[in-house]
Amino acid sequence: MIYAKKKWGQNFLVDQNLLEKICNTCSLSKNDVVLEIGPGQGALTEKIIQKTKNLTLVEIDPGLFSSLKENKLFNDIKILNQDILTTNPDELTSNGQLVVIGNIPYNITSPIIFWLIDHKVHWKNSYLMVQKEYADRLIAKPKTKSYSRITVMTNLHFNIKRCFNISPNVFHPRPKVNSSFIEIKQKEVPLNLDLKKYSQIARLAFNQRRKMLRNSLSTLLNEKNSQEFDFTKRPEDLSVEEFIFLSKIL
Ligand code: SAM
Repeated sequence: MIYAKKKWGQNFLVDQNLLEKICNTCSLSKNDVVLEIGPGQGALTEKIIQKTKNLTLVEIDPGLFSSLKENKLFNDIKILNQDILTTNPDELTSNGQLVVIGNIPYNITSPIIFWLIDHKVHWKNSYLMVQKEYADRLIAKPKTKSYSRITVMTNLHFNIKRCFNISPNVFHPRPKVNSSFIEIKQKEVPLNLDLKKYSQIARLAFNQRRKMLRNSLSTLLNEKNSQEFDFTKRPEDLSVEEFIFLSKIL
């Protein structure tokens, strides 16, 4: 009997139909090289190995790691007992073609998203289970309540799609929140974009989301650049393209 540990966000998937649906949504073929984040007891892993054997599991919990190692089904699979956030995917692939899959711990969703941004050269598609409200923010459109800094940061790098929502009933233990399964694909970032400037502008603007940009970005404005854009707008009015434009002129 395995007791779920809250500190590692352990809510295990127990619905076979849903596990099949998740695996089919990832459209894996036998040549795909998969990295599964937080395999837990291996419920999803069992479905993935029916599609491809090129699979690495990264599980932080030593107890779950041991039971995964003892599972004969996973004999040919690389299993690492470590934190995904300190894992260097360099060691897992040579051609940047990883498919990353994970029913991840929700308390580290943002660090995992930023880990994906940092390591984007190593993977082609990612599929994650996240809290529904978090997915709402990732796919939010401008001028909506969910449109936020994480929307603007992620949509610079990625095209994100909600595949489907998931009820708490398919997990054990049952979480208090609804979930969404999302697909993340890479998109081209404009050459020569100053990424540090882009994130600085997003941070300053959304730190004071009700204020006009002429206030929240005042430290970056001067007589010349303040004429080049309508700084009476608020951050939630701006598209990613407009944030890119601001990174060029400020
Ligand atoms: N994939 C399993 C399933 O669907 O039943 C388990 C999902 S559970 C929500 C999250 C899993 O991630 C747990 O097994 C947990 O121990 C593991 N985990 C938590 N933090 C982690 C980290 N930083 N790096 C790697 N695995 C982690």
